[in-house]
Amino acid sequence: MNNSNLHKRSLAVHAGTRRSQYGEMAEAMFMTQGFAYDSAEQAEARFQKAGEDEFIYARYGNPTNRMFEDRVAALEGTEDAFATTSGMAAVNGTLMAICKSGSHIVAARALFGSNLYLLDVMQRFGIEVTLVDGTDLDQWRSAVREGTTAVFFESVSNPTLEVVDITAVSEIAHRHSALVIVDNVFATPVFSHAVEQGADVVIYSTTKHIDGAGRALGGIVCGTKQFVREVAEPYLKHSGGAISPFNAWLMLTGLTTMDLRVRAMADSAKAIAEALNGHQKLSKLIYPGLPNHPQHELTMAQMGSGGTMLALEIVGGKDGAFEVLNRLELVLISNNLGDAKSIVTHPATTTHQRLSEEERARLGISPGLVRLSVGLEHPDDLIADLKRALG
Ligand SMILES: *Cc1c(COP(=O)(O)O)cnc(C)c1O
Repeated sequence: MNNSNLHKRSLAVHAGTRRSQYGEMAEAMFMTQGFAYDSAEQAEARFQKAGEDEFIYARYGNPTNRMFEDRVAALEGTEDAFATTSGMAAVNGTLMAICKSGSHIVAARALFGSNLYLLDVMQRFGIEVTLVDGTDLDQWRSAVREGTTAVFFESVSNPTLEVVDITAVSEIAHRHSALVIVDNVFATPVFSHAVEQGADVVIYSTTKHIDGAGRALGGIVCGTKQFVREVAEPYLKHSGGAISPFNAWLMLTGLTTMDLRVRAMADSAKAIAEALNGHQKLSKLIYPGLPNHPQHELTMAQMGSGGTMLALEIVGGKDGAFEVLNRLELVLISNNLGDAKSIVTHPATTTHQRLSEEERARLGISPGLVRLSVGLEHPDDLIADLKRALG
């Protein structure tokens, strides 16, 4: 199949499919840890160099995993990908694979709690980490220097929805030959043009929009063949980072509907943002798809959509936020996102609980802040539920 002239929606249904001799329609789930060899010589040869369609051990690779990897790589426009046990395994594997003691990473300060934790751990091993305000290009310019190993950021930050200019930051990084690693979860592969915009490595937690139904954990590292197979894979395969074939199979089915789901969710997110903007019980409503968002123009140029996530700052601090959460009936309190079911999260007491109050304040994670992941319910029902809870 020639992928180059197909739309993402078609690639999400077909790319990477490998059929066995039975010609099965649905992708087969190869629930096997290993593969039998015809001879000792074949085993020896395969350990020396496994061909495109040859496998050794599921921790190294598996046909179902490979279908999932090839499909996401086709969507993202990268040469290759490696699927991992979770989004965090993907971030950890990527950073560990490229860093050694003395390496220097520049990262945006506004990051998912586990990403911040990982950067703390890396500093224990003599890796220098400089945190910057991801939206301030001057800070990137002064932090990235000769010898910087990589820059790392969420293209849309969790949970305050700051949007980082991938093109501009990539230019700064590439001037010093630093690798550009983008955690692109909130952008989703549907709205991503990260590679065209300069990213070298694009990471997803596939637990989110790719699974799309909150069933399984997964992650993926997308990049050049050289990066994925020669840099990331050796670390990931030896440290147990590979996704389970069962989860890869779930993700493959998730991908087939992702485009439709994500576009519907983004339409609803915009409708909710417009309906609630200026509500008297909200001291702030953050949605990159609204013109009042500080990076609205950048968002539309970079992603063409405001995405599926909102952040609402509720009047009355933690008590006010908790009251609203507890009054919601349709929207569930949980901490996943990108799920078919709409979800609210109170970051200050859950995902970002580990941070100090000052650090949370610096990131805009106020006591009243609530993150909303918009699902596939009818937007009118979601607006009614949110208005009732706020009222
Ligand atoms: C959820 C999330 C992760 C981690 O993914 P897991 O699959 O939960 O390990 C990383 N980055 C961002 C932005 C996320 O939202």
